[in-house]
Parts: sequence; C-alpha cells; structure tokens
Amino acid sequence: MSCRDLKLLEGQDFIVNTHECDGERFRGLFRQSWDKIPVNARKTILDYWKCRELAPSFELSNLWGDSAHSYAQVIEMGYRMRFNAKSFSIMPEPPALFVIAHELAHVYNWATGTSNALFRSFYEQNTDETEVHEKFDLENEAKADALAVKWEFDKAKMDRFRMLEKMRGFEYACERMTCAPEVELSDEAERES
Ligand SMILES: [Zn+2]
Repeated sequence: MSCRDLKLLEGQDFIVNTHECDGERFRGLFRQSWDKIPVNARKTILDYWKCRELAPSFELSNLWGDSAHSYAQVIEMGYRMRFNAKSFSIMPEPPALFVIAHELAHVYNWATGTSNALFRSFYEQNTDETEVHEKFDLENEAKADALAVKWEFDKAKMDRFRMLEKMRGFEYACERMTCAPEVELSDEAERES
C-alpha cells in the first residue's frame, strides 16, 4: 500500500489503490454514488464482496490497458473495479456519478446472480463463443444502465456527456458541462449539429 492509497468507504476496510495519483476527488464521488444507492442494494454488494476470502480490489490509475478508451471497468465477476484516474480528475459530477453507479450496478448484478444467469442463457442458445460474449456484453451493459437509472442516477446527463465527447473530445465535454450544466440533451444535439 502506498502512502496515497485511500480507504474507499467509511466503516469498511476496502482500499483504493491510487498508484500515487491524488484519489481524493474520486473517493468523494465514489462515496456520493454509494450513498445514493438503496441501502438493501449496498448490503447485497457488501455481503458479496466479503463472502470471498480474497478482498475485492479497487484501482484508480491509467495503468490498465482498457483505460485508453474506458472510464471504468468491472472484472472478475464484480471483485475487481478499475477507474480511469485521468477521467475522474476532471469529469463533471453528474456523468462521473453515473459511471460509478453503472459499475456498482455490474457488481450488484453479479452478486444477485443476474449476470451469471444472463451469460448462461446466451451460452445455451449459441455455439459461437465470440457471439455469446458479444451478446452478453451488450445485454449486460444495458442491464447495468437500467439499474443505475432505477437508482435515480442521471442518464440524460451521461448521454449528453458522451455525445459531446464523441463530437469534440473529452476536455471539451468537461468544459461545456461545467459551464452550461442544465442544457437538455436534445437542445445540445441541435446546437452541436
Ligand atoms: Zn458496463
């Protein structure tokens, strides 16, 4: 553990490995998302993380390969969460909270067996392994988004951020959403087109 590693949640032993970057802002955002999630869902996630002998791992860095094109990632069936340090240093609050909620929704869906069942159903229907993974990924992502929306995170702002990023890049999207936080997605699309 390096001196800049942080305790992720109050009252829990989980550590976020920051690889020497400043994780304070990220931790604040993570805790904000966590506190917004219904208490039963939080308990389900905590029980799941604690039921395995090996502690779950949390990383904030740009050392993981997919960080070149992902804000975050959940692997090992919800036991390893990775977050993009560069993205979370400046991403405005609403999309940042949505990304974290989406990742926690993945963990929840592994914890409840939802993702497992989904994978199995595609596996039983298809013989092509690539196709199984593609179909599973698509549906699994949609399920995580839907759950984040159910938990009342703002998908419209997330979509607006993604649209701005796609059209003009990550930094522009951050600036634009900070300067004009309340513009509707449809108005933004019209303005940018
Ligand atoms: Zn996802």
